[in-house]
Amino acid sequence: MGFKILRKEQLASNIHFIEVDAPRIAKAAKPGQFVVLRINENGERIPLTIADKNIKNGTIEIIFQEAGASTTILSKLKAGDSILNILGPLGEPSHIENIGSVVVIGGGVGIAEIFPAIKEYKAKGNKVTAIIGARNKQLLLTEEKIKNMADELLIATDDGSYGRKGFVTDILKEMIEDKKEINLVYAVGPVPMMEAVSNVTKAAKIKTMVSLNTLMLDATGMCGVCRITVGGQIKFACVDGPEFDAHLVDFKELKTRLSTYRDKEKEAIDHICSLDKIKE
Ligand code: NAD
Repeated sequence: MGFKILRKEQLASNIHFIEVDAPRIAKAAKPGQFVVLRINENGERIPLTIADKNIKNGTIEIIFQEAGASTTILSKLKAGDSILNILGPLGEPSHIENIGSVVVIGGGVGIAEIFPAIKEYKAKGNKVTAIIGARNKQLLLTEEKIKNMADELLIATDDGSYGRKGFVTDILKEMIEDKKEINLVYAVGPVPMMEAVSNVTKAAKIKTMVSLNTLMLDATGMCGVCRITVGGQIKFACVDGPEFDAHLVDFKELKTRLSTYRDKEKEAIDHICSLDKIKE
């Protein structure tokens, strides 16, 4: 029953990789899309980006951070265990065409989500520069894979332990100052990063797309939990997105909505950890 986990790896202290048997999703999934999974009967619905897929093997890959109660429970599953439901692929696929020179930016866990877009931008004949950034070297996920696919890979770490010291935006600013040709920027990562990227490219008038990680519940456009404002209009990230024109996104509202249940989430994680302690 359910969707079997075929491979599981811990990539960093609280970041995990799973490869799951899901042939129909693997066949249909396009870059930019996500799945919603429910671990068990009592599980909440968690939206997670499809990090890669293998149509031949009928598998999808997911890389996730232990962020709340459900991802903490998911992190405890092993290869051979099953996830009760996986719904997908969901969301609008990325609109990828030949536009010239594209800069694809991944920050933190967002790095793990940019590979399908890089692959497709390359397939459409674009020159792709990838910029990835994380707090330190250990958190630079899927570096080799990105290096092998992109034309150029530029790296920043906050602590300077690898690549240049600083943020992904420092590298982007330099590229713009050096008058490098950039026709499009595509960014995935924490909201402050996507907002910072947007501010840089807005000033330089470079079209920029971001993948928004809003809260989500049903992920079919009915519940409204993922509501955001884009260009003054109400949108739902699950069905209208998750990708939007960064220069039109109301980031202030997004940040406020993302923090709504932070206290409840902390309570839920503390509860799970206390149950683990009882078992020990
Ligand atoms: P983090 O805070 O460690 O930041 C990662 C990198 O992003 C930094 O090293 C830096 O290069 C850049 N960055 C961060 N803040 C910046 C700023 N203010 N200005 C310029 N650059 C900045 O990231 P993390 O802890 O790995 O991120 C986790 C967050 O990413 C979670 O909130 C998660 O929900 C989100 N996430 C988003 C997506 C998505 O689809 N957008 C996907 C996966 C994870």
